[in-house]
Amino acid sequence: MADTNLMPIAGQIDPVPTARDITPREDGRVDLIGLPRPRIRELFERAGLDAKQAKLRSKQVFHWLYHRGVTDFAEMTDISKTMRPWLTERFVIGRPNIVEAQHSTDGTRKWLLQTDDGHDFEMVFIPDADRGTLCVSSQVGCTLNCTFCHTGTMRLVRNLTPGEIVGQVMLARDALGEWPKGRMDGLEDAEDTGHYTADGRLLTNIVLMGMGEPLYNFDNVRDAMNLVMDGDGLALSKRRITLSTSGVIPMMERCGEEIGVNLAVSLHAVNKDVRDEIVPLNRKYGLEELLQACANYPGATNARRITFEYVMLKDKNDSDEDARELVRLLKKFDLPAKVNLIPFNPWPGANFECSDPDRIRSFSNIVFEGGISAPVRTPRGRDIDAACGQLKTAAEKKSRAQRDREAAEAAASEVGE
Ligand code: SAH
Ligand code: SF4
Repeated sequence: MADTNLMPIAGQIDPVPTARDITPREDGRVDLIGLPRPRIRELFERAGLDAKQAKLRSKQVFHWLYHRGVTDFAEMTDISKTMRPWLTERFVIGRPNIVEAQHSTDGTRKWLLQTDDGHDFEMVFIPDADRGTLCVSSQVGCTLNCTFCHTGTMRLVRNLTPGEIVGQVMLARDALGEWPKGRMDGLEDAEDTGHYTADGRLLTNIVLMGMGEPLYNFDNVRDAMNLVMDGDGLALSKRRITLSTSGVIPMMERCGEEIGVNLAVSLHAVNKDVRDEIVPLNRKYGLEELLQACANYPGATNARRITFEYVMLKDKNDSDEDARELVRLLKKFDLPAKVNLIPFNPWPGANFECSDPDRIRSFSNIVFEGGISAPVRTPRGRDIDAACGQLKTAAEKKSRAQRDREAAEAAASEVGE
């Protein structure tokens, strides 16, 4: 494992170790993925292009990176043949490294990924009848120790960089074969570079529900989502992106204002004692305060409701009384809300069990009768442990040598097909 280039920064709330803004590769080249357009332009100027050239080239390169998904400067056919090696000498187009990729019988796909400095994190793709949702990680590990969450048992290693976050979306497009093909002639004249939309693609939605607390890595998540939403790039609408937080109240307003995505809140309990226990952040930011912050969330309307996630834990938070209290609280704050009931996904050593199906049904009915939609999330990808924190664990059990052997076998069988 290479040395991690870490520096302590004052986090939004607590100090967290984070990667430096630009960490050149060992050969000195800079990864362009994750950098905003003006930064690419600046780097081109610093490397010797004049202002006009830097502007034009950065526009072309941005388009090739985020709209066409190329990973090699040699493929940038509207950039002169002499310019392409100039770029290759100075820059790279990165992707997270794939440690392991799994495909469930129900279509769910899961990847164990690795940063360049050797830290594992995960990403899941869940296809449905009318949408395909990519579940993206924002941190390696998590500082918040929710007691039912496996990621919560891992220590926070570091925040993911904007490149590592947007890189997950790009990697998924690579794997799904969803980059548009076609010619790039005349880009410098054409402003209409947005004919490709998410429509017709498998990957239509993004949820920040993988490893980590996205609002503890606000700047990097915002920068990455700005790239995902950029009309000249991945061009995914903010309406198709949902950020899930365990309740980092001081960052919620900025999330609405500066990112503007849909909000999901991991509520999981309706009274202080239980929430203090299972979501310890509640001791810092209490329930009522959290619901008030939801009521103030910029952009929340009946058309764009806030999702309240509620994990169903047997004999802990799943009584009819809890369901009635949930309805009362959501109504008290007049919240445009929907509730997502998540059957607890057990992991080795967990101190909880999932509520019985009858209990979940009864809970759901009470919330529905209160006038709030409360569907039960269907577990997906069970055969590949596609839920929170589990692929990483499964992979850790295998030795590096075993993983390498499996990868070699998989590559060999693909060649033989
Ligand atoms: N840190 C953020 C987002 C990542 S977790 C948050 O907590 O909101 C995404 C969702 O999965 C959260 O609602 C989380 O509470 C839930 N979750 C975590 N572990 C789970 C488990 N073992 N079973 C079911 N849901 C779980
Ligand atoms: Fe972190 Fe979310 Fe897991 Fe809590 S539920 S430990 S905030 S990833």
